[in-house]
Amino acid sequence: MPRKPFICGNWKMNTTRAEAVALAEGTARAAADTPAVEVGACPPACYIEAVAAEAENTPMVVGGQNMYFEAKGAFTGEIAGPMLVDLGCEYVILGHSERRHVFGEPDDLIARKVKAAFAVGLKPILCVGELLEERKADRTETVVRRHVTSGFEGLPKDQAARVVVAYEPVWAIGTGETATPDQAQEVHAFIRALLAERYDADLAQTVRIQYGGSVKPENAHDLLAQADIDGALVGGASLKVDAFSAILAEGARARGA
Ligand code: PEP
Repeated sequence: MPRKPFICGNWKMNTTRAEAVALAEGTARAAADTPAVEVGACPPACYIEAVAAEAENTPMVVGGQNMYFEAKGAFTGEIAGPMLVDLGCEYVILGHSERRHVFGEPDDLIARKVKAAFAVGLKPILCVGELLEERKADRTETVVRRHVTSGFEGLPKDQAARVVVAYEPVWAIGTGETATPDQAQEVHAFIRALLAERYDADLAQTVRIQYGGSVKPENAHDLLAQADIDGALVGGASLKVDAFSAILAEGARARGA
């Protein structure tokens, strides 16, 4: 079965409630116009419910930007998986580079979150990717291998098949600097080979691998036309309906839809 591209907005810590609702309404409309692409939005936690209400009866899916691995308890400021489900989430972004590098989340914490997400029926969008100094030191594959190996640790095949991996070179996030389609494809193929090694070829062909890092209408087509790039995780450009709609249209066009 061909992998359906998945393009998801990561709104980060942006929007007011009114802006989130308007953005959700426009994104849901764009999702209805591009049925060849699965379309998602990950708003700030406090607006998930309002965004999920806009997504109802539309093809748009909703995700959280993070979660803790415990289901409840004395963890001030955290949000639990069951809460995300309760608010209407289907996905949750885990291991985003801002969580790894701004908030210091280590691999083992992210791995626990992946398991906790599945325990409540959430599908993780597992972010992996190297820093600029790691790329310059020729350590991209070492870092990506560590992120993937740890994120999939102990996952049975049926769960592994539902993970969405987002390859996000940290040097390309929010910088306007994009990996070239060839650079991205090379790492995506490496990730797929890793999954084939850990599981099998069928599983590796099933898992969707998004690219993330300054995706915009101008580069979306060439990135998504690559054999192993199955969509995008989009930060800045997901905050504008016009730009995000254009990315969706380019993604569909790249797949011949
Ligand atoms: C992201 O936050 O995951 C991201 C890729 O951001 P941007 O598109 O702004 O680089």
